[in-house]
Amino acid sequence: MSDVTEADVRTRVGRLLAEHGDDDEVAFLGAQFDAGLARMDYPVGLGGLDASPKLQEIVDEALEGAGRRYPWIRNAMGIGMCGPTIVARGTREQQERFLRPIFTAEEIWCQLFSEPGAGSDVAGLATRAVLDGDEWIVNGSKIWTSMAHQARFGLLLARTDPDVPKHKGLSAFIIDMHQPGVEVRPIRSMAGASGFNEVFFTDATVPDCMRVGDVGDGWRTANATLMNERVSIGSEVAPRGSGPIAGAVAAWKRCRNPNPVYRDRLMKLWIDAEVLRLGSLRAQAKREKGVPGPEGSVLKLLSGRVLTDVSELVVDLMGPDGMLGGPYTREQVDEREVMRGDPVLSFVGSPASTIAGGTTQIQMNIVGERVLGLPREPGFDPDTPWSQIPRN
Ligand SMILES: Cc1cc2nc3c(=O)[nH]c(=O)nc-3n(C[C@H](O)[C@H](O)[C@H](O)COP(=O)(O)OP(=O)(O)OC[C@H]3O[C@@H](n4cnc5c(N)ncnc54)[C@H](O)[C@@H]3O)c2cc1C
Repeated sequence: MSDVTEADVRTRVGRLLAEHGDDDEVAFLGAQFDAGLARMDYPVGLGGLDASPKLQEIVDEALEGAGRRYPWIRNAMGIGMCGPTIVARGTREQQERFLRPIFTAEEIWCQLFSEPGAGSDVAGLATRAVLDGDEWIVNGSKIWTSMAHQARFGLLLARTDPDVPKHKGLSAFIIDMHQPGVEVRPIRSMAGASGFNEVFFTDATVPDCMRVGDVGDGWRTANATLMNERVSIGSEVAPRGSGPIAGAVAAWKRCRNPNPVYRDRLMKLWIDAEVLRLGSLRAQAKREKGVPGPEGSVLKLLSGRVLTDVSELVVDLMGPDGMLGGPYTREQVDEREVMRGDPVLSFVGSPASTIAGGTTQIQMNIVGERVLGLPREPGFDPDTPWSQIPRN
């Protein structure tokens, strides 16, 4: 790791603002990447300074203060998961080709893991990739793929060897979503529209140079993505009392029936939200370079619970008005800032936070086994070749 100091970082940020303060958003983000201020822990020349990730906070705060809030929601999968995976497991050519347009959000990404028969048990997936010369032919389908309708590229997990145990026969690829063999169909959620999709592959192709990691080593690549996903879902740090809990306090003030039971629920949730905020700050302060550890699951668990409970309290406080809302357009659901401002949309969308990125039960298994060291859940098929495991 390099010995970049806080003072160096402040000087670089000052220079960036002085030289590019008037640029449009894409040009400014490109300049930020080139200055090594995109992700402090990324390698030099690839958006970072090979420095401690803790220094990133200095950059983000200074840029926000100058009115340059990072638009991560526009490319949440690319920034939060696929980019860090390419840094951890990709080739130098892949890093040079993809990291910059991911950061500037000029190329949107999606994560193609879950399938109809393989969500929690993603290692059981069935989409096949077969090598033909120097390219892979992909057939199968994915589901719940957020942002696939906007994505230029996807990080695909596919089965390349069905005759070995399920975790060992997977490989990861970068797939071009704008090719004839890829079909994206929207899924309608209970909000009336949705940001996720089904994706069908029919003889889609991926050049071998777009494989991420070795053949058969896709599980390790997928884990790098999933660990980053949990951290990126669970660790957003907002000022004390802001975010969803601020909406609950505002709803309490407007409530026509402010009884002690509601007040009690509000107080308990305010404390939970503060514990989550402090936990996220602590995780940020402890964060080392590289792929995050299983501790990310703790924050992911708590953030899902706080979001669902707060959303439920808000609609309760609204009384009959809490039953009015929607249907919403796909654009409204895509734009999560709108979702946060609309209490009913927030309520119908909040259960997703306990499912996406691994369900509550799966996070509890991870915390139990990998953080607390409790005995592992009995495996049904750890040594059986995938092709011999019964499936429907
Ligand atoms: C809003 C949203 C966005 C998403 N975006 C993406 C995306 O971009 N890309 C992607 O690949 N996927 C995405 N997903 C899919 C998500 O990762 C899966 O839905 C999730 O992993 C659960 O899988 P499943 O839906 O197949 O449920 P299942 O795995 O069938 O689980 C059903 C129930 O059984 C429980 N369960 C399963 N196994 C165990 C176990 N071993 N122990 C205890 N309980 C268990 C689960 O907790 C759950 O309650 C998204 C999901 C949502 C809701």
